[in-house]
Amino acid sequence: MSTHPIAIRAKTIITMAGEGAVRSAQLFAPLKRIENGVLLVRNGLVEEVRPWSEGSLPTGAIVRDLGPVCLMPACVNAHVHLELSHLVGKTRWGKGFARWLESLVPLLALPPDESCIAKACLDMWSAGTLYVGNIAGSLPRGMALADAACRGSGLIVRHFCEWFGFGEPFVDGQRPWPPRCRAYVTSNNAVAACASPAGHALYSTDPQVLASAHADCVRMGRVFALHLAESPEETEFLTTGGGPLRTIYEQAVLPPNWMPPGLRPLAYAMKLGLLAPGTLAVHGVHLDVQEAEVLAASGAALCLCPRSNRNIGVGVAPVRKLMESGCLLCLGTDGLTSNRSLDVRQEAVWLRETLDVPPEALVRLLTINGATALGMTSHGMGRLVPGSPAAFCILPESLVC
Ligand SMILES: [Zn+2]
Repeated sequence: MSTHPIAIRAKTIITMAGEGAVRSAQLFAPLKRIENGVLLVRNGLVEEVRPWSEGSLPTGAIVRDLGPVCLMPACVNAHVHLELSHLVGKTRWGKGFARWLESLVPLLALPPDESCIAKACLDMWSAGTLYVGNIAGSLPRGMALADAACRGSGLIVRHFCEWFGFGEPFVDGQRPWPPRCRAYVTSNNAVAACASPAGHALYSTDPQVLASAHADCVRMGRVFALHLAESPEETEFLTTGGGPLRTIYEQAVLPPNWMPPGLRPLAYAMKLGLLAPGTLAVHGVHLDVQEAEVLAASGAALCLCPRSNRNIGVGVAPVRKLMESGCLLCLGTDGLTSNRSLDVRQEAVWLRETLDVPPEALVRLLTINGATALGMTSHGMGRLVPGSPAAFCILPESLVC
């Protein structure tokens, strides 16, 4: 039975109708806007978006007038670590990546907390996020709790099941899922349909495992994710084999005969064949201009997490250069171990206010580009068009264009 339609009126509505993933100069093109618009919703789905006209509302429509705001499609948070949500406020910020990591490692002995994960998901939903790229497999039971919380709060999730460490037995019988995710994914078809094998990072995961996980994603038609070029310590470790990451990892996961590749992160990832369409690299803080162009040419997408980078103290990604390079860019919050909230709109606000990134580009990163980077290319994802979920958010004041 059809319920009463809901008519949501707003000063401006941005639908992203007709837009696909956007790169380069197209990022800055004016957005199509409907002034004094109405979003007609029936049974949770968009029926129509059009200019407001009281006389032409459907019979029985319930009107909600949101006033002088700009509505846009619900956001995509392309990179978050939901299972670490209980560690909010417990890590060391502002002193660089190695100090942050040193503070995090002992905390990983704590079990994940169901209520913290549920709160994180509800907070995201309340802030107008619908689509989430979640890193899974950091903690025992973490994936199961994160998946249940996403479903319970109405979020549409893609799980990236992270392989971590060196010397991990990785025979065909164990592929494609890493140990902490394997039982949960293989026992649940709905979860398996929205999960990908993934790698943690070039400095923490065996290169053969990374290459195999990437190959599994290609075979399965899934997005492959890994952290890339996040910190100066990462570059130092990969190029020289030394620095603080060596000290941290040689006690834990690094095999005694480990040799550095002698390459910067981007070159090493290219050498391993990890960067291609369908790959979602995360961070890209330490990419130079030429590397940004190589990344763009590879077809891989890049998720920027600017507030996490600022909080940890790893630097600022070359956002303008990345935009000009033609790289497919999107936004993520990272986890609550390096951010104060999981409201991905605040990443865009930070880029607007700190780097003067045009709002038109940021709206695209938050919506259609994020959906594309997560492989969410079904009808209406990242858009407000007939048949899409009637999930929207209010554009923060500084992003109104
Ligand atoms: Zn991360």
